[in-house]
Amino acid sequence: MTVLALLLAMVLLLWAGVLLAFAGPLVARWREPVLRHPVLIIESDDWGAGPLPQADALARLAALLQRIRDRNGRPAVMTLGVVLEVPDGARIAASRFTEYHALTLADERFETVRAAMQAGIAAGVFAPQLHGQCHYWPATLLAAAQKDIAVRDWLAAPEPAATETLPSALQSRWVDASDLPSRTLPDASIEQAVVAETAAYRAVFGRLPQVAVATTFIWSDAVETAWAQSGIDVVITPGRRATCRDAAGQPGCVDASMLSGERSRAGQTYLVRDVYFEPTLGHAPQRLADGLKMRARQGRACLAETHRFNFLQAADASLATLEAGLNAALATCPNVRFITPLELARAIEKRDPAWIENRLRHRLTVWCVRLDEVPRFRRMARLSGLVLPLAWLGRAA
Ligand SMILES: [Zn+2]
Repeated sequence: MTVLALLLAMVLLLWAGVLLAFAGPLVARWREPVLRHPVLIIESDDWGAGPLPQADALARLAALLQRIRDRNGRPAVMTLGVVLEVPDGARIAASRFTEYHALTLADERFETVRAAMQAGIAAGVFAPQLHGQCHYWPATLLAAAQKDIAVRDWLAAPEPAATETLPSALQSRWVDASDLPSRTLPDASIEQAVVAETAAYRAVFGRLPQVAVATTFIWSDAVETAWAQSGIDVVITPGRRATCRDAAGQPGCVDASMLSGERSRAGQTYLVRDVYFEPTLGHAPQRLADGLKMRARQGRACLAETHRFNFLQAADASLATLEAGLNAALATCPNVRFITPLELARAIEKRDPAWIENRLRHRLTVWCVRLDEVPRFRRMARLSGLVLPLAWLGRAA
């Protein structure tokens, strides 16, 4: 009997040790809110100042989204990550690349693009959010143009430019990537820029932005602080924060990781966008359904990232793939809900019982599913036998 008791005590101690070793990520996944319904949001970046065919693409997207409805009759929602200016090529070339001049989204030549955005917003299918005044840092581009003829040509283009064709490192707004590795920008410059771009956003959309998504997902504490001062209280993330471009031009200097519902130092609510759906890169419709199904099991929303280039470069095929993907998602999770990131963030902040699961057994089941993603934990749980009580917990609901 004493031997058995001793063995039992040793096993319990071992399990406690494993749980303690992974306490951080385990507790974070327990505290992360569990959604009561599957949620799908299409997150689409780069819209705004830029090529004029966007107007037609946006109109077709709005029509498509209105055809797809959840059980409550609400149409599918697509966020528009908005860019508020592109270079004024003629004026920049006239200055011999010593001065930067911009064409803003408020310019009359973008009237059709603005109208298409507004029509989709009025129809409840577009939710605009701040992507940035521009998809670059202007001084960085001018510096890069001094040594890179391709950047100079891009800057001088007579038609509103597509930022997708810039070298990737230069598409990051919140670092100086004119030389690699990138350098941080002065806090005061960031603050000034955010004040200006939130005002520019309000001039077009009639209200300040509340949700922001950094270009190329590179941003910093200083950016979040500036965003907070301008009223942005929801930040879209890929689950980690890269703060620089490394020597190879890749996102680096990751200084934080986050789960949906966690707060930034400046007090914003983070949301995680971690499903990638780019039809022109060969992503099939089923990817959207699979992403939604997995996140529903994890009690999380499925925020699916896509970009305007899909709908400009191969509009017919990309629209067909998106529609098929949304229909596949509906077939896989018939009780899916379409809401905006802002509504999702508010539901999480308020712990709204209509959206957030409170029942202990359901939360335990979801927690066990989430543990699968913790590196090395699943292996340690198997080796130690901890997997047995966890499996029991996971089945309990
Ligand atoms: Zn972008």
